[in-house]
Formats: sequence, C-alpha cells, structure tokens
Amino acid sequence: MSAAAVAPAGAERECQKCGRLLDEVGRCWVCAPAAPAVPLNLSMTNVQDATCECIRATDALAHCAQTEAEARSTLDLAEAEALILGVDGRNEAERKAALRLRLRDEYASLDAATAAVRQARRDLDVARLWIDGLRYQLRLLEVHRAPRIGGE
Ligand SMILES: [Zn+2]
Repeated sequence: MSAAAVAPAGAERECQKCGRLLDEVGRCWVCAPAAPAVPLNLSMTNVQDATCECIRATDALAHCAQTEAEARSTLDLAEAEALILGVDGRNEAERKAALRLRLRDEYASLDAATAAVRQARRDLDVARLWIDGLRYQLRLLEVHRAPRIGGE
C-alpha cells in the first residue's frame, strides 16, 4: 500500500507526491497507473491466473464486506451505549458533535473498512474484465477457425 492510500480518515485526501486530490479508492490519477497491467495474450497460464485472481478477489470482497458489517455494528453499539450514558452539550448540534468526537475511532474503522470494500470491488471488476478479455479472444479464434456455411 502506498503512503498516499493511508491518509487519515476525514482529512483532505491528497497525493503525497504531487498534491492532487485522490480518487474514491485513494489513488492519484497521475501518479498511479490508470489500469493494472494484466497479461492479455491467450494462454493456458493466463486463463488459469485470471480465474485464480477472480476467485481470490471474490473471496477478498466477501471478507471485506464482513469486516465492514462488523465495523458498522460496533459503531451502532458504541453509539447506543453513549446515548444511554448521556452525551453532554447545550443543544442538539453540540451533543451530535460530542458524540461524533467520542466515537471517532469507531468512525475511522468504518471508513477504513468501507474503503477496503471499494478497493476489493474494483479488484474483482478488473479480474472479471481480464477473464472477459481472454474469453473474447477465444471466441474470435473459434469464429475464424469454424468452417463457413456455404464455403468461401
Ligand atoms: Zn500524484
């Protein structure tokens, strides 16, 4: 993970290298490569690698989603506990702010888990596109090799 990807939650997310705003998955559109390089030439190894990556990414996304659900549940419980114990403040806005500050760690955990889910979803999208790219090549080969009805 790059240094730019671990900016504190809630802070302005900027690239550590060039200062540009980072995208929703914490990447700089200039410094980070636009698309991960995946080998697209049709071979048994690449088909196997793409399939393995798709399985890994599916599993990782499920794991990240579980972590996010747990972080949300922890935040909900901590909020309920804080509300029952009472939150100081002269008005609604102050009490809301005090609650937000008291639960900052829980919010940070949830933000990190949500970012991990976005990243995992993107990885899975890339893996699926990789498989699609290989599949279309295979289809093209089949079309070119198939005997044409009615002859040439
Ligand atoms: Zn940058």
